[in-house]
Amino acid sequence: MPILSKVLAVFSVPGDRPELLLAQAKAFSRQIPLLYFILLANAAALSYTHFGSAPAYLTVYFPSALAVVCIARVVFWWRSRRKGLTVKQAKRLLMGTTPLAAVLGIGFVAWSFALFPYGDAHQQAHVFFYMAITVIGCIFCLMHLRSAAFLLAGVVVVPMTLFFGSSGQPVFMAITINIVLVTLAMIAILIRHYQEFTDLIATKKALMEKNAQSRRLSDENYRLANLDSLTALPNRRRFLEELDDRLARVQPGAGNFLVGMIDLDGFKPVNDAFGHAVGDKLLVQVAGRVTNFQDGRLFVARLGGDEFGLIVDEDLDNSEIEHLGAQLCDALSEPYVLPDVIAPVAGSIGFCRYPDGGRTAEELFERADYALYHAKRAQRGSAILFSDQHSDEIKALNRVENALREADLEVELRPVFQPIVDMEIGRTIGFESLARWDSSKLGPVPPAVFIAAAERLGIVSNVTEVLARKVLRNVNTWPMDMRVSFNLSAKDIASPETVDRVISIVRASCVQPHRIDFEITETALVNDFVQAKKALHAIRKLGAKTSLDDFGTGYSSLSHVRQLPLDKLKIDRSFVSDIETDQASRDIVKAVLDLCRNLRFECVVEGVETEAQVEMVRDLGGHVMQGYLFAKPMRPEEISDYLTAERQNLRCAVSHSDEPRDAVRKAG
Ligand code: C2E
Ligand code: CA
Ligand code: CA
Repeated sequence: MPILSKVLAVFSVPGDRPELLLAQAKAFSRQIPLLYFILLANAAALSYTHFGSAPAYLTVYFPSALAVVCIARVVFWWRSRRKGLTVKQAKRLLMGTTPLAAVLGIGFVAWSFALFPYGDAHQQAHVFFYMAITVIGCIFCLMHLRSAAFLLAGVVVVPMTLFFGSSGQPVFMAITINIVLVTLAMIAILIRHYQEFTDLIATKKALMEKNAQSRRLSDENYRLANLDSLTALPNRRRFLEELDDRLARVQPGAGNFLVGMIDLDGFKPVNDAFGHAVGDKLLVQVAGRVTNFQDGRLFVARLGGDEFGLIVDEDLDNSEIEHLGAQLCDALSEPYVLPDVIAPVAGSIGFCRYPDGGRTAEELFERADYALYHAKRAQRGSAILFSDQHSDEIKALNRVENALREADLEVELRPVFQPIVDMEIGRTIGFESLARWDSSKLGPVPPAVFIAAAERLGIVSNVTEVLARKVLRNVNTWPMDMRVSFNLSAKDIASPETVDRVISIVRASCVQPHRIDFEITETALVNDFVQAKKALHAIRKLGAKTSLDDFGTGYSSLSHVRQLPLDKLKIDRSFVSDIETDQASRDIVKAVLDLCRNLRFECVVEGVETEAQVEMVRDLGGHVMQGYLFAKPMRPEEISDYLTAERQNLRCAVSHSDEPRDAVRKAG
């Protein structure tokens, strides 16, 4: 059975290997013209030598008929080769070729035998030579179609061997033996060649599959490296690449374009409250809105988190940019319908225009980001274009950063102190320390500016430590009942090392920790709530108190406040400044004061500047206050006189039966 199936396999066409089939058909079609050329040329020579000695039907008509069939086949193969073959066509062609080879073989053999009796010994030798040489040539040409080659060998060589081997002619018999040997050798070569040919095709196929696979892999890698998996938008890396490309292509003086940066307002609360799945859906909707905007004429990328980048390939003037920004902001502020929630999220945008805003990818990117930062501060949900004024601000900030980098903090930093008064008992109960930097290069720099610069430079912990030591040295000289409030930056709170070092500085000082309040801002909570909580616990463990500064300006919610080990809240001065005129501010101050009473927090009302504000705050239930009305921040050496004056005024007030609370105002 296995032998039979092997034999059958030799005569079959490999239908299960289409690539082999096509390769066979292709190689075969290249050899076909050669095969028929050999056949016809040799047949013509034989007809010629027998012309006259053999009848015309053998020298003219029969070979002509065979020649017509051969030429038709050549034309047929040539046309199919030019058209290109499908697997099915190739299979049909190859399968049809094997029987045809046998039929043509039989036809030519019969013709040769028919000619043999006519003519002399030379002509007979020519017949024999014709048969032998033609069959060898044709077998070679059929080497890519084993079945046809073997069949042809069978139908020609076997009758020829029998005919000439039994002719009794020693020369013919010797040639017959030679031909049989050559044919056997040829069959062996053919089998090996065919094997090598199929191996080659298999290797080629494997190689092509490997290539296709590596192409697929590299496509996938490209996708992963350049696309954001959530929104399928280009990612930050691709955005920067695109920006570089545009810059490389842009012609000097022509082709201005716009870089934009979008940041969502109110995304974080939605993400925190409803979970990441809802947050993800919201981001996908945002991506859709920006992508569909202006029929997709913008290049949009997700830069990370809730930040998106834009490239607008148009030369827009200021008012057109303003219009575009407003339209985008409108599109982004439409409510987002999500499962279980309709989220009121908006987007702020910063734009920077090439080339007047910046000329490198880095400049354009940073400046759009700067404009975005201003949009978020000035009016959330608006768009701002980077301007000359911003450019001047950046230069000023750079000057501050450079001066701060080189400053001798020990010499140039100093604390000033602003009293915190309790209006119920009419006297100062503590001071808030506020940093001052007298830069040797720039002169006095406001703390809001240099603290932010120190944060950007990553050196704010140095500032904090220098100030902490100086402040505590001063506090040591104060009356024992006088407290101090010390500000910590959000970056200090985020770093366990800095918190540890501040705690060691307190321990190394002679000030009892319970006299110290550490003030932290809401930003610290928003950035890293878990670490902020740890830091507050460490401060509590030390024995000091904790205070949440500028309450009401950031994002911290009531749940934040409840979960944290806090002792005090400080109501931001923005609510106090219009407390007389604005009912909303009044409501907020009252709500926070009530909250503090319920949670047993102390509450400090900041920024009190007028008598009317004092009265208003007292009516709402607050009595601990801080502000220019009582005193501006003062130098350490002024504190002693201030406290003495306050004590004297208090005594006077008591003897003149004035209100004790008047004493603090007179001291300031
Ligand atoms: P803050 O912690 O909210 O400090 C109160 C700020 O309000 C101080 O500004 C103070 O001078 C000012 N102020 C007090 N009363 C009034 C008032 O009645 N009216 C008005 N208009 N302003 C009043 P200052 O000293 O310029 O400090 C600004 C901010 O810089 C501080 O705000 C605080 O966030 C930061 N800062 C100051 N010193 C330090 C420090 O040592 N470390 C850290 N991390 N930040 C500090
Ligand atoms: Ca403060
Ligand atoms: Ca404050």
